[in-house]
Amino acid sequence: MTQVAETIPARAAAELGPTVNHWIGGRRVEGTSGRRGPVFDPARGVIAHEVDFASVAEVDAAVAAAQAAFPSWRATSLSRRTEILFRIRNLVETHRKEIAGLLTAEHGKVPSDALGEVARGLENLEFACGIPHLLKGGFSEQVSTGIDVYQIRQPIGVAVGITPFNFPAMVPMWMFGNAIACGNTFILKPSEKDPSASLYLAELLKEAGVPDGVFNVINGDKVAVDRLLEHPDVASVSFVGSTPIARYIYETGTRNGKRVQALGGAKNHMLVLPDADIEMAADAAVSAAYGSAGERCMAVATVVAVGAVADPLVEAIAARLPKIKIGPGTDPSAEMGPLVTRQHRDKVASYLDGAKAQGARIVADGREHPLYRESEGYFLGTSLIDDVTPTMDCYRDEIFGPVLTVTRVDTYDEGLRLVNENPYGNGTAIFTRDGGAARQYQFDVNVGMVGINVPVPVPVAYYSFGGWKASLFGDLHMYGPEGIQFYTRAKVVTARWPDPGTSKVDLGFPRTR
Ligand code: NAD
Repeated sequence: MTQVAETIPARAAAELGPTVNHWIGGRRVEGTSGRRGPVFDPARGVIAHEVDFASVAEVDAAVAAAQAAFPSWRATSLSRRTEILFRIRNLVETHRKEIAGLLTAEHGKVPSDALGEVARGLENLEFACGIPHLLKGGFSEQVSTGIDVYQIRQPIGVAVGITPFNFPAMVPMWMFGNAIACGNTFILKPSEKDPSASLYLAELLKEAGVPDGVFNVINGDKVAVDRLLEHPDVASVSFVGSTPIARYIYETGTRNGKRVQALGGAKNHMLVLPDADIEMAADAAVSAAYGSAGERCMAVATVVAVGAVADPLVEAIAARLPKIKIGPGTDPSAEMGPLVTRQHRDKVASYLDGAKAQGARIVADGREHPLYRESEGYFLGTSLIDDVTPTMDCYRDEIFGPVLTVTRVDTYDEGLRLVNENPYGNGTAIFTRDGGAARQYQFDVNVGMVGINVPVPVPVAYYSFGGWKASLFGDLHMYGPEGIQFYTRAKVVTARWPDPGTSKVDLGFPRTR
C-alpha cells in the first residue's frame, strides 16, 4: 500500500517551553534538584530546551502520589476504567499529529515514521480497552462436593516504566495502557533525550479523566532510575533500552523484590535464500535497515546472503540507496531523518572506519552527507558494508544507525548457525519462496520474533513483544496477553457454602474425592 505523505506541525522550542518538567499527582511540577540535561533538535543541531533531572525526594513524591491513588483506582469499576481508556484512545488519535510533531522536534523522526509510531502505540491502547474481557478469570464448579474454585487477577500496585529514546511515544503506550487498565498506578521515566511526548500524553490522560496520581512522569537520569529500583512501594519495573542497562535493571530490580521485564538491544539478521525474489528482498532490506535512520530495535542490521543470491542482492540494495530522501522531519517528503545526537552520529560513523580497517568492503559510504555540513543537524547518509565476518566490530556491536552489513554464507545451515550463535535474539526475517524452508527456519531459530518475508515483525498488540537471550531479561514479554499477566497477580479462591449442620472437625489433609 502506498503511504500518503502527511504534514505534521513543527513545534518550535519556545512552544514546548524552556524546560520539560515532571508530572506528579495530576499536574506539571517544576524540578527542584537543580540538575538538568539538554534536549536537542537533531535536525538543526542545537539545544532546543532542557529537561529536569529528578532527585530522590522528587521520585519519592511521585511514588507517594501513585501509592495514594492506588486504592481508589483499583476499586474503580471495570466499566468506568474502560470508559476512560476509550477516551484516552480517542484523544491520542485526535492529537496524533501533535504527538508526532514532538517526536520530530526531539528525536528527528520524519512524518511517516513519527505517525507510524503513534499508530502502533495506539493499537496497544485499543487492546487495553478490552480489559473487561482480558481480566476474566476461570471458574470451576463442584471441584469437590459443594465446593467451587475460581481465579481472579488483581493489580500489583505501583508499576514503573523506563523507556528508550527511539520510541518516545510508542514504548510508553506499550506499558501504561495495560498497566492502568488492570487497576495499577503508573510512573513513567522517559528517555532524557526526548521527554516531551510523555508530558503531552500525561495531559491527554488527565483530560480523559484519569484520576490524579494514577499516571505520573518523572524525568531524569540514573539517580531517578536507581531510586525507582530500590523504592519499597514500587511493585514492578518494565524497561526497554540497551542490553547492559536492561541487565542492570533486571538484576537490581529483582534483588529488591520487584517484578521486572527488561527488554534490551538487538542485532537482527535477515536471511535471504537463493530462491528469494531479489527485488522484494532488496526493498525489504532497505526499508528495515534505514527506516528511522536505523534507530529501531527491530531494524534489520545485517543481511545474511546464502549462495548465489549475494551479488545481485547487494547490487539491488545499493541501487536503492541514492533514491532515499534524507532531510528534516519538517519536510513532508523526507524519508530518513537525522540521528538523535551528535555523539551518537559520530559513533555510528566510526563503524565505517573500523569496518574498512578490518577488511570489509564499503559499498556505500554515508559518513559525509552534505546536510551534515549545511544544516549542522546530525545527519548521516546510508551505508552498506559487504564481506562482513562475525569477528568484525560492525557485525558484533549493535550500531543503531543507517548502516547495513552483509555477510555471505554458502548454505542455510551456515546462515542459521550465525543467527543462533549471536548473543541477541530480538527479531529475524527469512526471505524465500520455499514454504518448507521458512517453516524449518521458524522451528530452528533461537529468536523471539520471526518474519517470513516480513522484515520488521513487530507483533500486533494482541500478541506480545519480546526477544530471547540478551534481548530480554525476565519471564514475560511486553504488552498483549503477557502484558496483562505482568501487571496482575493471580488469586485462587476455594469457596464452600455448607449447611452448618454438616460441620465437623477433621484434621486430615483436605481431599477432593
Ligand atoms: P539506554 O539503555 O541508554 O536508555 C534507556 C533508559 O535507561 C533511559 O530512560 C535512560 O535514561 C535509562 N538509563 C540509561 N543509562 C542508565 C544507567 N546507567 N542507569 C540507569 N538508567 C539508565 O537506551 P537508549 O539509547 O535510550 O535506547 C536505545 C537502545 O534501546 C538500543 O539498544 C535498542 O535496541 C534498545 N531498544 C530495545 C527495544 C526492545 O524492545 N528490545 C525497543 C526499543 C529500543
